[in-house]
Amino acid sequence: MTRTPLIAGNWKMHKTIAEAEAFIQALLPRVAAARSDVAICPPFTALGAMVDSARGSGVHVYAQNVHEAGSGAFTGEVSPPMLVELDVHGAIVGHSERRQLFGETDRALQAKVPALLDAGLVPILCVGETEEEREAEQTQRKLRQQVREALAKVDDARLADVVIAYEPIWAIGTGKVATPEQAQDAIAFVRALVNDRSRAAGDAVRVLYGGSVKPDNAAELLALPDVDGALVGGASLDAESFAAIVAAA
Ligand code: PEP
Repeated sequence: MTRTPLIAGNWKMHKTIAEAEAFIQALLPRVAAARSDVAICPPFTALGAMVDSARGSGVHVYAQNVHEAGSGAFTGEVSPPMLVELDVHGAIVGHSERRQLFGETDRALQAKVPALLDAGLVPILCVGETEEEREAEQTQRKLRQQVREALAKVDDARLADVVIAYEPIWAIGTGKVATPEQAQDAIAFVRALVNDRSRAAGDAVRVLYGGSVKPDNAAELLALPDVDGALVGGASLDAESFAAIVAAA
């Protein structure tokens, strides 16, 4: 099974439209020959501008969150059809910052993931354990719960259309990267959870690593057999360092 790697940059709450424009103009020539899929995940305000600027380049644009409903009385939220109208490719869901700071639950993800798929959008579902959970040897228990719950309402036939990002919370924005063994073990475990639902989907689903990926550690992580790319935070804010990670894939 060949899985095309995906390198996705999560900008979080960084970059105005003007800053995003400067970034994309610097990025596009640097990733023109990329053999992996490349995506940026700007804030909502810059999505339309980035879709327009990246059109025809092969670089996809994802949102960082979405609401599961098509429309309704949900102040401050954005729906899948609104992203489709912008020509956005997909959305990150379940990022640990959304879970910890904004109360996003596995139950909400159970609705968000199928809502994205039904709208023709690609979900990047984030899962991962805290440092305490790893020390208590609860990593697999946490991953099992997060993956099973978030995918519970996805048909087996659509499972491989979801991208899963394994992001140990202790590695996000800390400079503390998982060892290759930790990343490989956790990602193989995530794949096995999908395999439990459908052998074909488990073989085809892309599972990314996220957590302090930088140009100098990317190649080692991306060479691991079950790692199908990276979700990159801090290092995705600079076009040169993000392009170096793309080149490592
Ligand atoms: C992230 O926020 O998804 C992330 C992986 O951040 P960083 O690369 O900065 O650790």
